[in-house]
Amino acid sequence: MKIFDVIVIGAGAVGNAIARELTRYRLDVAVLEKEQDTGFETSGRNSGVLHAGFNNRPGTLMARLCVEGNKGFEREAALLGISFRRTGKLVTGLTDEDREELQRLKGQGEANGAEGLTILNGEEISRIHPRIGGNWALLSERTGVFDPFEYTVALGEHACQNGAVYFFGKRVSEIRRENVQAEDCFEVTAGGERFRSRWLINSAGLYADEICRMAGIDAYEIRPCRGEYHILDKGCGLDLPLPVYPVPNQKAGGLGIHLTPSIHGNIMIGPSAEYLGDHEREEYDSTKEVMDMLFEGGHQLLSDIKRTDIIRSFAGIRPKLTTKETGGYAVSSLNRNRRRVGLSRWRASSPRD
Ligand SMILES: Cc1cc2nc3c(=O)[nH]c(=O)nc-3n(C[C@H](O)[C@H](O)[C@H](O)COP(=O)(O)OP(=O)(O)OC[C@H]3O[C@@H](n4cnc5c(N)ncnc54)[C@H](O)[C@@H]3O)c2cc1C
Repeated sequence: MKIFDVIVIGAGAVGNAIARELTRYRLDVAVLEKEQDTGFETSGRNSGVLHAGFNNRPGTLMARLCVEGNKGFEREAALLGISFRRTGKLVTGLTDEDREELQRLKGQGEANGAEGLTILNGEEISRIHPRIGGNWALLSERTGVFDPFEYTVALGEHACQNGAVYFFGKRVSEIRRENVQAEDCFEVTAGGERFRSRWLINSAGLYADEICRMAGIDAYEIRPCRGEYHILDKGCGLDLPLPVYPVPNQKAGGLGIHLTPSIHGNIMIGPSAEYLGDHEREEYDSTKEVMDMLFEGGHQLLSDIKRTDIIRSFAGIRPKLTTKETGGYAVSSLNRNRRRVGLSRWRASSPRD
């Protein structure tokens, strides 16, 4: 039996960051991960955008941590040795209703303590980039982009270098509470081995509800919500200096299909938002229907995009607590969302060679 002070379940960005932080103290820390490496699930499959904190409800932990984390990220990226660019971000809209929503987002961001938020009109938008359309936009100066996989790996490497012990291929299947020598302990079975600790951290992402249930807590139910992307070839001649989002649809399962320049210089189109069944939490396959829809949407935003510009497609799955009815849309309604983007004037700055 291996005995630790703390066991962290899940080696995604959250588990690795917590393990890294805990290694500042005199604690024996173990990380149990079901996969053979870190970042195989949601942390390695997302837009890689460092948010500024205006999308989150004031007073929530997420809002506070988002603003706090954003402030220190240059230092954090330098410490971790990862690339990061503070690109800024535009959320664009067309109608008066969109403008009101942008004002609301700005107010929400300011209530959260987010800095660098300005409402722009069409002329000001075109000064940032002549081909980005929209009558109104919220400019967030403090948004940035980074490589989420590199980030997750770097967090894990730091934790490991500082003494955390990683066990890969160890899927937690049972948790028991025990009283050992008058101390409350957890006994965790993972990959056929048993581990014991005084504290247990649940950072199991898509399976966090299962881990809760193993520990006797029934309060959570995770609903998987898939987001698919296309990645465009760097050489496709399109120039996108900053992420461009539509005004979010409050009922949607994500922030809307956006265009994001990756830290490596590719443009990503996506993500979609599609609720999956309970047993489809690792259904990362790209689907023809959504791939076609994303291409079509991307093509409407940037008319020079060709199918041959797409070099890769991938999907990530959001572990959501909201249901489809309260916070998500189906594939068939994605087209409606696309029309709200309002970037139809946007064109490639230079044709492909
Ligand atoms: C499409 C999409 C776009 C997104 N875009 C952004 C963005 O631009 N910016 C942003 O900040 N966030 C974004 N997110 C959210 C972000 O990706 C997540 O908040 C973050 O990755 C969550 O990290 P995590 O460590 O909690 O989860 P995960 O990365 O999923 O890590 C959980 C780990 O637990 C392991 N695990 C699960 N069950 C067990 C078990 N029983 N035993 C052992 N190990 C287990 C898994 O294998 C996994 O490695 C996006 C998410 C999606 C899906």
